[in-house]
This record gives sequence, structure tokens and C-alpha cells, in this order.
Amino acid sequence: MPKYFGQYGGQYVGEVLRPALDELTAAFAEYSQDKNFLAEYADLLANYAGRPTPLLYAENLTRELKGAKIYIKLEGLANTGAHKINNALGQALLVKKMGKKYVIAETGAGQHGVATAAACARLGLKCEIFMGAVDAARQQPNVFLMKQYGAQVHLVWDGTRTLKDAVNACLKNWTARAADTHYLIGSALGPYPYPDIVKFFQGIIGREIKQQLLKKEKKLPDVLIACCGGGSNSLGMFTPFIAEKKVRLIAVEAGGLGKKSGQHASRICSRSPVGIIEGYKSRFVQTDDGQVMATHSVSAGLDYTGIGPELAALAETGRVEFTTASDKDVLKAYQYLARTEGLLFALESAHAAAAALKIIPRLPKNKIAVLNMSGRGDKDIFITAAALYKKEWTEFLRQETERLCV
Ligand SMILES: *Cc1c(COP(=O)(O)O)cnc(C)c1O
Repeated sequence: MPKYFGQYGGQYVGEVLRPALDELTAAFAEYSQDKNFLAEYADLLANYAGRPTPLLYAENLTRELKGAKIYIKLEGLANTGAHKINNALGQALLVKKMGKKYVIAETGAGQHGVATAAACARLGLKCEIFMGAVDAARQQPNVFLMKQYGAQVHLVWDGTRTLKDAVNACLKNWTARAADTHYLIGSALGPYPYPDIVKFFQGIIGREIKQQLLKKEKKLPDVLIACCGGGSNSLGMFTPFIAEKKVRLIAVEAGGLGKKSGQHASRICSRSPVGIIEGYKSRFVQTDDGQVMATHSVSAGLDYTGIGPELAALAETGRVEFTTASDKDVLKAYQYLARTEGLLFALESAHAAAAALKIIPRLPKNKIAVLNMSGRGDKDIFITAAALYKKEWTEFLRQETERLCV
């Protein structure tokens, strides 16, 4: 039975892919309970990814905001610079257990492609990444990194040559070769069982927070705040706390430049309609007749039309609260966190920080808030430097170009 979360989720794929999804469902059910598998995964997380990631008491920020006591979970310190590696390693290990040799994945901004390529390199799997030609041209640093990790990057020239075309190309490719190939999905979405698999592997974020905080404070947090694209870092953080009804869970979507269509990537706060796209039912930024619409965000990783089905359901019941952060506030939060705590947030994660700057001053001092820094911001230098020091950055790029052309 394809699994639903309320009205969302399911498994909307062609019949040819059903055996591969059934096989994956069975393998996941088996190995997620298997002691040896879990020990191998824990070893990879500890010695390759560098877990547990620290839970930092943000003393300066707490003093400045004069509200709840703030902790920051530093997922950005994980190898490859973000939380995506937790899931990429987990699925790659599952692929080995299933006896498959090849991994394919699609990527938009390239961050999932980089994490997947790195995990496959570590585990000795052959990796192919599908990427829209327009995206690849915009994201050369990530294309470069994928190649360094030994992945083959397939440019997709269909349609708008961006993420949704890469997803289609990847699904089509998988149809032809599912017997020896795994499709490694990067967020808590896609046809069942992917939303559960990704939640399981990203749940390490929340499980560590629970342990670390119980040790430091002897109690649970009062508020958790995470940014939300497809929803893997937020769901991973929230999962162990969903049943703890007193813990407020706040997900932050990309508010972009404003509420007009095409200017943001908010599915929940913008009340986007329900649709069935890319194999699952959820809320998508789309027109009334079901065409996926362009999204915008200053952060490449939140610039996605859909949201994972479980989060869509948790939004509907009100268990997870949703808010947005604008591009402008995100850049401010990015600078503010760098100065107050010496932490360079990824622009995605800076959405959580921007929301925290508004929410935390209103909370009493005896409350505890945890903020997820899903990734670190080094990767964003072409955006942040261009936005904050346009003249100097343009001059730098001009000189670099000149130097390369001689
Ligand atoms: C990809 C990415 C995100 C958004 O994806 P989710 O699945 O919503 O977590 C957030 N932060 C960083 C650093 C990312 O790379």
C-alpha cells in the first residue's frame, strides 16, 4: 500500500517503476532494523561525515536578542558542508546492501549532486548526476566538485533545462535500468518510500539535538526552527519531537522578493494548490491548471516548487508552524550571525536565522530555542559577495577573467 500522510504522499509512478520501489521498500524495512547496517552507518557518520555535529550555545546572540536561550545545531560542520550528506551516505549504503552498482540522482543547485557524488566515492559506487544545462552553467563550482568526486554529469537539454527537466530525465533513465541502479533522492519527497527513507536518515539531526540538550540543559527545547525547501533538514530535526506536543516546530520557507507569483518559493504560506508532480501528491507552487510555476529564492537550495508530503500534512494539522523570510532579511541575518557568533550560515539556513531574529525576542528568557544551521555559507560567495560588495566583486571577477584569457 503506497503510504500517505493525510491526503499527501503516495506513489504516482508508471507501472514499470513499481517493482523497483517495492524492492526499495522491502530493503529499507529490513536494513533500517538491521544491527550491522546501523553500525556501519553510524561508523560512516562518525568517521567520514564527522558526527555528531556540535550543538553550540549561542551566547552572544542570546544576549543581544534578550529572549529565549539559543542553541545552534552546526550541520554545516558535517563533511561536504551541509546536512545532505546524512541521507546520501544512508542511501548509498543501502544500495550496496541491495547489491546494486550504480547510483543516479538529479540536482538543481548542485548541492545534492555534490553530497551524492561524495558518498558514492566513499562507498565505491558509480555515480551519474542529471542536471539541467541552464543550472549547470550557473552552478559551475558544484559541477566541478561532482567531477572531482568521480561522478559523471549528464546535462539535460529538454524543456527549460532546469531542475524539473533533470528530474524527468533521471526518472526516465531509471526506468530503463532499475535492476542494477538506485535513484538517490535528496529530500523528504518523491514517491513512497523515499519520504520515509530520507526522514529516517536525516532524523540523526533531531536525535543528536535531543541527547545533546538533555545533557546540557536536562530538558527538551521549547522551540525548534529550521529552513524548509523539500523539507529534509526540518523534518530530520523535528522528527524526534513531533510527539512532544509542548515543543513548537517552526519551518521557514523562501519568501524571496515578495508574494507575487514567480517571486518566492513558498508552498504553505502562499497557500499553493495540491497537485501530483514528480511521483507524489503535495502542495506545489503552480498555476490553477496545474502548471509548475517558476520560483525564486536568493538561496539555490530552497528554490524548489514542491514540499515533502509529511510536512504538508503537518502544516495542515498545525503541528508544524510555517513562516517565510525574505531575501533581504536573509542577507541581513547571514551578516548578523557571522558577526555575532562567527558562524557563516548557508543562505538556506540563514532563512531559519532570519525568522529566529523575529521570533526569539518575543520569547521569555526561561525558554530554549534551537536553530538549525543546515549548511555553511562558503558555497554562496558568488551570491553574497556580489550582493554585498558588488563593485569590488565585479572588479575581482573581471581581473580573474582577464588573467585566464591571456
Ligand atoms: C538543500 C539544502 C536545503 C534545503 O533542503 P531541505 O530538504 O529542505 O533541507 C537547506 N539547507 C542546505 C544547506 C541545503 O543544502
